[in-house]
Amino acid sequence: MFQQAQSQSSEQPNQNLAMSVAKFGGTSVADFPAMLRCAHIIKNDTRNRLVVVSASAGVTNHLVRLSQANISLEEQNQIIAAIRVIQLNITQHLTSSVEQALNTEIDNLLDQLATLALNQSQQHSVKQSDAILAFGEQLSSRIFAQVLQSIDVNGAYFNVQQVMKTNSLYGKAVVDVEQLALACNQLLVPKLSQQVLVTQGFIGEDGLGETTTLGRGGSDYSAALLAEALNAQNLAIWTDVVGIFTTDPRITEQARAIKEISFGEAAEMATFGAKILHPATLIPAMRRNIPVFVGSSKEPEKGGTQIKQKVASNPTYRSIALRREQTLVTVKSPAMLHASGFLAQVFGILAKHELSVDLITTSEISVALTFDNPSDSTQSLLTSTVVQELEQLCEVSVEHGLSLVAVIGNGLDSAKGIGQSIFQTINDTNIRLICHGASANNLCFLVDEQDANHVVEKLHSALFV
Ligand code: ADP
Ligand code: ASP
Ligand code: MG
Repeated sequence: MFQQAQSQSSEQPNQNLAMSVAKFGGTSVADFPAMLRCAHIIKNDTRNRLVVVSASAGVTNHLVRLSQANISLEEQNQIIAAIRVIQLNITQHLTSSVEQALNTEIDNLLDQLATLALNQSQQHSVKQSDAILAFGEQLSSRIFAQVLQSIDVNGAYFNVQQVMKTNSLYGKAVVDVEQLALACNQLLVPKLSQQVLVTQGFIGEDGLGETTTLGRGGSDYSAALLAEALNAQNLAIWTDVVGIFTTDPRITEQARAIKEISFGEAAEMATFGAKILHPATLIPAMRRNIPVFVGSSKEPEKGGTQIKQKVASNPTYRSIALRREQTLVTVKSPAMLHASGFLAQVFGILAKHELSVDLITTSEISVALTFDNPSDSTQSLLTSTVVQELEQLCEVSVEHGLSLVAVIGNGLDSAKGIGQSIFQTINDTNIRLICHGASANNLCFLVDEQDANHVVEKLHSALFV
């Protein structure tokens, strides 16, 4: 799912600077009015010193396409032109001298991008993919710093690659937390007392000086790591919804915002697919007990969700998360009966390919495993090579088109009436696999992709309305 940061920060930087880190997602920096709203959020609270931005909405998806093998020169040019339009639509609202200077920077970056894209189409590599994907955040952060200045906030661009040092696992790089704390102390803290710095989420740099990325949606995680390194008082994740809801508000109108939620519950939601937060976001926040706020940059006055260590209530049912594009792999071997070592071999193959398993169920001679296999991923997925290696060991069947539904709450491993409340409610649905009992905070099952929305809607009205 995700790699945990290598170690806990031992540094104690920045004890005196009372500051918050604010992260703005793709829709929050999609166009000029959106960026301006975010700039006012920063201006209205002087504790906001560090701003972490995602790429403008749509740009990373363009870049993912650009980083794929064998795309024609014509398509490369079209993609780069589309990115240029998104960014220039923003800069045109700034004064003409700022616009001109920014457009020159943007065009320089896009020229570099074009060269990389050409190389990539001739010689595809994951390293080059990461270099391509990083352009979205590099562009939006430069622009946002200028939007801040346009409303008289002393904002400046900061290249996060100076501090966000990672290993070389391209597509899902692991951040060196100790080095981040040290570098922030040296390079960021002295500047933060004078300026609001605008930096990039999602990207880092390895020991070879190559660009790396932390995985799709990774800007939330970057912001949390920076908040940890700076010992920030607060982390605000500004997005397009007014907080964390009882389920994805795109699935049912009945979803309602949660006022406060514990770190543990929110982490479970993120892990099981509530797209609102990258799965690893809460790990750094929990390490330093930094409260996290989630709210809408469009409607900041509506408040949002507070995520913190202790909350007033711990309900049995807190929320329902849904993760689409799941793959179920069943491995079957009569040799498994009364034998040992088979599972270790299976997991050895998966580890070699850096694949992480989400759910597992076993019977005497078979094991069923689920994998997250999203089509927009930049990370290693279950490939035919992996399947072939497993087939050397046992019979393998692979099913696609499944969705993972996770009911998140408290005491779910021992709560009475779960069968009635959950499974009775959806007894018209074919359930492919159930995981219950390993965690007090979640109960998960797999359903066919086409049943997923219906299942979530039905369960939501039974458990929350
Ligand atoms: P950003 O670009 O700001 O990072 P994302 O698109 O990654 O935003 O995440 C916000 C989206 O997450 C929302 O628009 C919503 O559809 C989705 N989402 C999924 N589950 C939830 C949930 N439980 N609460 C709120 N939003 C959710
Ligand atoms: N821009 C990256 C993505 O779309 C990272 C992020 O937005 O968090 O995945
Ligand atoms: Mg996101």
